[in-house]
Amino acid sequence: MNDSDKTACISPVRLGYGSQFTFKCHPGVSCFTQCCRGINIILTPYDIIQMKNRLGLSSHEFLAIYTEPHMLEKTDLPMVTLKLLDDERESCPFVKDKEGCIIYEDRPTSCRYYPLGVATLQHKEGADDDGFFFFINEPHCKGFEEDANWTVAEWREDQGVDLRDEINREWTDLVVRKRSFPPNIKLTEKAKQMFFLVSYDIDKFKAFVFESSFLKRVDVDEATVEKIKNDEIELLKFGLEWLKGVLFKQTDPEQQAANFANNEKSD
Ligand code: SF4
Ligand code: SF4
Repeated sequence: MNDSDKTACISPVRLGYGSQFTFKCHPGVSCFTQCCRGINIILTPYDIIQMKNRLGLSSHEFLAIYTEPHMLEKTDLPMVTLKLLDDERESCPFVKDKEGCIIYEDRPTSCRYYPLGVATLQHKEGADDDGFFFFINEPHCKGFEEDANWTVAEWREDQGVDLRDEINREWTDLVVRKRSFPPNIKLTEKAKQMFFLVSYDIDKFKAFVFESSFLKRVDVDEATVEKIKNDEIELLKFGLEWLKGVLFKQTDPEQQAANFANNEKSD
């Protein structure tokens, strides 16, 4: 997804997995932590699970304290971004001048990709590649002057984004599908709420599954029930699959769009 900084210059160079670049970020660079201010970070479902667990919060609490809701451009789907501090530099709440990122092991996907941007959510459904990457060129970033060489594939593996992209794949796919709908197709409020619940508020979705009549209305085998009861990632994957089934019952794109818009009736 495009997590571009408000002041960044997006390089027009389209990068693939084999594209090479030179970059290194470490506490010794003169620009240390500058990229953690004045930023726009879209959070993925997996990011939220990792971060809320790191902080010992429920997903609901995490959303209330650390995020801002938006509508994702051209999709009419809700998304959340990291809420910045109201300080002079609009700092990320997790950055400290000397230590850097205090949740580094659980930092969001966008922070891991940096200085690359990924155009997955701008990708067209049915295209024969996985999207593409680009450089986020910020004038203050000195990392490009350092001496470590990477391919995009090596960088992704080193930063742990392969795993994250895999877990978020169904979510990304859902967004990409919705994006391909005609612009006049509008979602019901219920559809948006369900998308939000499954994608971002996993604890509330769990309560919805196990504390409502959901399991009576939806045919879920016992093994899956056990799996999703104790594993949030499995619950997320299940939720996204279910959401997809509800929203995209037909294969015809026009019919899919109509289902998405009318899902209030079918749920
Ligand atoms: S601006 Fe670039 S080099 Fe500086 S801390 Fe951020 S990523 Fe590292
Ligand atoms: S989460 Fe960490 S890496 Fe990402 S912007 Fe905040 S401090 Fe920087």
